Amino acid sequence: MIPALVDLGDFPILGRPINGHRLVYLDSAATSQKPRSVIDSLIYYYETTNANVLRSVHTLAEESTVAMEAARAKIAQFINARGPEEVIFTRGTTESLNTIARAWGDKFLETGDEIVLSPMEHHSNLIPWQQLAARTGARLRYIELEPDGTIALNQVQAQLSDRTRIVTLSAVSNVLGTFNPIREVADMAHQVGAIMVVDGAQSVPHLPTDVQAMGADFLAFSGHKMLGPTGIGILWGKSSLLDAADPVVFGGEMIAYVDRESATWAELPAKFEGGTPHIAGAIGLGAAVDYLQKVGMSRIALHSQQLAEEAYRRLAAIEGITVYGPPAPRTSVVAFNVTGIHPHDVAQVFDSRGVAIRAGHHCAQPLMHLLDVGATARASFYLYNSSRDVDALIEATEETKRYFTR
Ligand code: PMP
Repeated sequence: MIPALVDLGDFPILGRPINGHRLVYLDSAATSQKPRSVIDSLIYYYETTNANVLRSVHTLAEESTVAMEAARAKIAQFINARGPEEVIFTRGTTESLNTIARAWGDKFLETGDEIVLSPMEHHSNLIPWQQLAARTGARLRYIELEPDGTIALNQVQAQLSDRTRIVTLSAVSNVLGTFNPIREVADMAHQVGAIMVVDGAQSVPHLPTDVQAMGADFLAFSGHKMLGPTGIGILWGKSSLLDAADPVVFGGEMIAYVDRESATWAELPAKFEGGTPHIAGAIGLGAAVDYLQKVGMSRIALHSQQLAEEAYRRLAAIEGITVYGPPAPRTSVVAFNVTGIHPHDVAQVFDSRGVAIRAGHHCAQPLMHLLDVGATARASFYLYNSSRDVDALIEATEETKRYFTR
């Protein structure tokens, strides 16, 4: 029996009944719920501090700037960045990855260069590279997955060459829940002179993150999947690479000097933050990091892994259920199908019992093709879930089978 890691009273939404049932929220991989402290940080900011950052010298503007920069410093420390200037605020993982492809990729890739990635990537870590390849004449090379969906290093090696410029992988798959061997792949990428880009959308919320130990050159993640607000995310990059890259959004606050014909760029991080940032979102993400650190990322890692592995085991034991990826090790997500029943119908029966899961292709169509399915159901767990929620998942699955065979 695995209890929730936190007091459920911290999460106001979990007190809301759904269709007459207790809300069993198993869709945190899509977006997590928010603790009261994060919600309060947004209200406090708008009620007491709201002003634009970096522009004015009045009290509110200074306090607002200090609060946003404090959040940046906190996030830098949370991922062990070398300094806060390496932490760029974006709208989320998708914008961060697109920015890397534009800012670094457009500048440094040429015809014939190669980008190595896996077929399990979320479309956010796939289409920016397709587009970069189309713009520059580079080509994509795919690491062949093992039959259970994991990545073997010899398959990575097989795709590397002296033309490899970028290697990119998700640290945790949003469908299979598997941990990819980021450090090893980063070392291999560096050996051929490539950079390592990591999609941390599903790893940063669940695992201690150390960008230096990881060997990454860039890391992208989203605030909303780690208890923070929507509309805020992070692009972390080594400062030498961010310095060498070109900005992609031009306008206010990202410049050093402007005349009629030309402009020069501000220092990091401002160079990549043209326009008014999502100040409240950044502060809210700082509050989310405080909450996560209070619970402890190592405890969260263990919890997400235990729940995902328990759910896998119990689902796989039910006749007519297919669960995707290896039973273990895995974290946070479990994708499955009920034979003969479309995952949307599965999710609908679940919802009628208050159990929120995701159904669809999970923005990973190439992986769906490999699994030979159009879609799956997906349950995902976080620090407010417990074995009681796995019980609800299993009961809802049994009920779905009964409902459709009646
Ligand atoms: N990569 C992965 C692995 C994801 O799970 C997600 C979110 N579904 C994304 C990228 C995109 O994140 P966002 O929509 O927050 O930009």
